[in-house]
Amino acid sequence: MSDIQYPLVVVGAQWGDEGKGKLVDVLAQHADVVIRYNGGNNAGHTVMVGDDVFKLSLLPSGVAQKKHLVIAQGCVVDPKVLLDEIQMIQEHHLPVHLSIDPRVHLVMPYHKTLDRATELWKGKKATGSLHLGIGYCYEDKNNRFGIRLDDLFHPTILKEKIIMISSLHLKRIQMVYGQKEKFNINAIYHTYLLYGKKLKKYTEDTSILVEKAMKTKNVLFEGAHGTLLDPVFGTYPYTVAIHTISGGIFPYVGIAPQAVNSLGIVKSYTTRVGNGPFPTELHEATGETLRAKGHEFGTVSKRPRRCGWLDIPALRTATRLSGFTSLAITKLDVLSGLPSINVCVSYTINKKRYTEIPASTYEYEHCKPVYRRFRGWNKDLSGLTSWKDVPIEAKRYIHFIAKILHTPISYVSIGPKRNQILRLTKQQGGL
Ligand code: GDP
Ligand code: MG
Repeated sequence: MSDIQYPLVVVGAQWGDEGKGKLVDVLAQHADVVIRYNGGNNAGHTVMVGDDVFKLSLLPSGVAQKKHLVIAQGCVVDPKVLLDEIQMIQEHHLPVHLSIDPRVHLVMPYHKTLDRATELWKGKKATGSLHLGIGYCYEDKNNRFGIRLDDLFHPTILKEKIIMISSLHLKRIQMVYGQKEKFNINAIYHTYLLYGKKLKKYTEDTSILVEKAMKTKNVLFEGAHGTLLDPVFGTYPYTVAIHTISGGIFPYVGIAPQAVNSLGIVKSYTTRVGNGPFPTELHEATGETLRAKGHEFGTVSKRPRRCGWLDIPALRTATRLSGFTSLAITKLDVLSGLPSINVCVSYTINKKRYTEIPASTYEYEHCKPVYRRFRGWNKDLSGLTSWKDVPIEAKRYIHFIAKILHTPISYVSIGPKRNQILRLTKQQGGL
């Protein structure tokens, strides 16, 4: 039995790719329902079970534990990507017990075109989007101009909506961004009707489903991206389009505010994909070492991730915003072999000290890290099965994080596989 308390929301504490997928897979063992509640297929998760590697972008990471999976309305779905993922899972002879809310908005071909055209136009100021159309799908959702899963079951309305929305977007693409594009409206319509036929059996009001499940079952919410990519409290405008702070579960699933435990996933160092301020970024050999050893390349994009030291002020902001009740530290194995390890404990701008990310992104761009140096260790951690075998230097590093963030650490992950994880007891700095 796990002593982790449900309901539980698993949230990235940095800029994404902290290893949420792995932790959700581990925790899903004791859960009944696993819910994705935000983001689209730009958020990639990797789950390793034995020699099987599951690269997921829409299905919740509980899939390998054969749990009831939910895609709540806060997500946007590219139907082709989802159907391909379902097929991939079925080819691994795993069941797909899935419920998707009819309110989810669908990524349409014109969203991807808009995404590409806008990023091109922004030039150096580009957000670093993957051109998957996610942000533009959310834009239509917010403008009450989107196409929802439910629309696929109403063909006449669907056709009218595709004609109206795509023609407006085409004008923007051609006349504002000067791109020569055309859409085959009939082909889009028929393709999406077919997607609807395939997704119909999974469609269910998940606001009601989750509310009921929370009364009797262990419910696990899986957040996409990371707290610091939140479009309001993160490093705007280098953010995603939807809330990534843990409180997002309430509107994005459709449940009333209530007590939910929050597990923050913290990578032992920091990575960031795309543009935006990153005070602890390493531009030299150590950054390369972390990237190579940690395989820091995007799950979806394959882009090299920017790498740097652990950033406590950023984690303090994330801990406050997402209210972490405990933390899981991942990829500690990657730090083995470094002679010393730096941790940023505060920032300065012209002698003014900052202990959290400033509200102004312009100020954040000028923040300089103040480091505290920790001694490294050489021992390979990846095969360890007990906390007591962890070198003292690594223990000091972990204890420091718990202490400075006033938050207990419940898990330390030491490799990508399901069994490469150490559970910390209270005496060891854990729950
Ligand atoms: P997510 O977006 O937070 O789910 O993270 P990703 O799956 O995009 O990226 C994390 C990567 O690190 C994946 O390739 C995981 O298999 C891998 N990973 C997770 N935990 C560990 C760990 O403790 N050690 C190592 N070496 N790799 C890990
Ligand atoms: Mg990821």
